[in-house]
Amino acid sequence: MPMIDWIRDYLDGLGIESRLAAGADETKANLYATIAGGGGEGAEGGVALSGHTDVVPVAGQAWTSDPFVLTEKGDRLYGRGTADMKGFIAIALAMAPAMKAANLRTPVHFAFSFDEEVGCKGVPHLIERLGRDLPKPSLVLVGEPTSMRVVDGHKGIAAMRTTVTGLEAHSSRPHEAVSAVVCAMKIVGKIEEIVDGLRAAGRTDGGFTPAWTTFNIGVIEGGSAVNIVPNRCRFDWEFRPIPGVTAEDVLDPLNDYVRAELLPKMQAVAPGAGVETEIMALSPPLQAGAGSPAVALARKLTGANHTEKVAYGTEGGLFELADIPAVICGPGDIAQAHKPDEFIEIAQLAAGARYVERLVEWAANDGNIAALG
Ligand SMILES: [Zn+2]
Repeated sequence: MPMIDWIRDYLDGLGIESRLAAGADETKANLYATIAGGGGEGAEGGVALSGHTDVVPVAGQAWTSDPFVLTEKGDRLYGRGTADMKGFIAIALAMAPAMKAANLRTPVHFAFSFDEEVGCKGVPHLIERLGRDLPKPSLVLVGEPTSMRVVDGHKGIAAMRTTVTGLEAHSSRPHEAVSAVVCAMKIVGKIEEIVDGLRAAGRTDGGFTPAWTTFNIGVIEGGSAVNIVPNRCRFDWEFRPIPGVTAEDVLDPLNDYVRAELLPKMQAVAPGAGVETEIMALSPPLQAGAGSPAVALARKLTGANHTEKVAYGTEGGLFELADIPAVICGPGDIAQAHKPDEFIEIAQLAAGARYVERLVEWAANDGNIAALG
């Protein structure tokens, strides 16, 4: 919140009003600000510059400089969030006076979110208000680090926690018990079967490496001793769907298996047995359609003559899901993100600044979104 307050005060000083869209507990908020020109279509439509204000922790990482003090060394700037993606937010804010002065024909919005790094949990509180009590942009430029390449697709992320409750017994009497660990292994096997089945059914996309939907069982815990049938097992897992694969494509057949096959067997022995799968985070894949005005604008501003896909997730898929075309393009290299001694090259910041400068020129002199794509 202190950072959001600082940004709000800064914009306020430029005569730009910002609105906060808080989460459930009001301790964190998205910030949304609109710079509308006099000559154009008012506050609706236009282009949103999107960035997340949170960063990943530095705990346990060996930094050679203070991660929260911007440190210049050679042609690089070091600090947590320099590449991911506070560099882009800094550029957007630095260009705000120019935007305000430019008498824009189409509005430019700032959409700065919270809690992106824990599964895109903040931005839905903003997106749900767009077109309701906040002006809805016609497209979104997401400034995640792509080394200024234009990215028109990424995989989604679905993170789950499954808890299996069985019934304990002495291990010499397993017929009176339901092993939560064995049941968990069956569910894990089913997950593998379902995800492999998607690939076998030809649901692949050669634009990605790897080209198919993947899964991972990241943590599994259960049981306490070799001679006790365990009554509880929990595992955290994720899958990363390619565009066109939904969370339901995995979760529906999994839930069907649990309900129809596994649970009846468990409950025949232990009526209180159960399986609970909780969605921890869900961010959809991004697949900008052919003729996406967002991709067309990013290509126009960068001069890029081709687009790419990336393996990491962004908030772009959530904007797309709300029918707001999105594209990913921003300064810095994702290879530096989340690591100790995270840095951005000053040349990347300069390229990012040129990108936003060209956006301001376009929004002031042209601004015709319908003519894009
Ligand atoms: Zn990021």
